[in-house]
Amino acid sequence: MKLEPGCPDCGNELMTEIEGGRTFVVSCTSCSWSAVTSYFSPIEQDNTLYHVYLEKNRILTSEQIRTTAKISPKSYLDIGRAVTDKEFLIFEGNAIEAQQIKRILEEQKIAFFIVPEFDY
Ligand SMILES: [Zn+2]
Repeated sequence: MKLEPGCPDCGNELMTEIEGGRTFVVSCTSCSWSAVTSYFSPIEQDNTLYHVYLEKNRILTSEQIRTTAKISPKSYLDIGRAVTDKEFLIFEGNAIEAQQIKRILEEQKIAFFIVPEFDY
């Protein structure tokens, strides 16, 4: 299969070989040019800082508070107090971290939202 663009040296066809899980070797079919590249999924390339908030006016069970305290730098007491009339920031971090937090919160049926919009 021909890749676009072609070889930067001679313009001929390039071919790609997979070498290990994420490493690809791209090499020219006619000269000695080659390059090693890595594949990263969109979430790994996302450098956005995401903010995870608890939704306001939600009463959390002590189990839910414990779970939240484990994934958040906030303490159990802080989170307990967060059940008020305003959103409460429990976590900020990159997309991969936010995705893990999201899974845990969903499992525990804890109401939350992420800013900015989180697509993963
Ligand atoms: Zn070439």
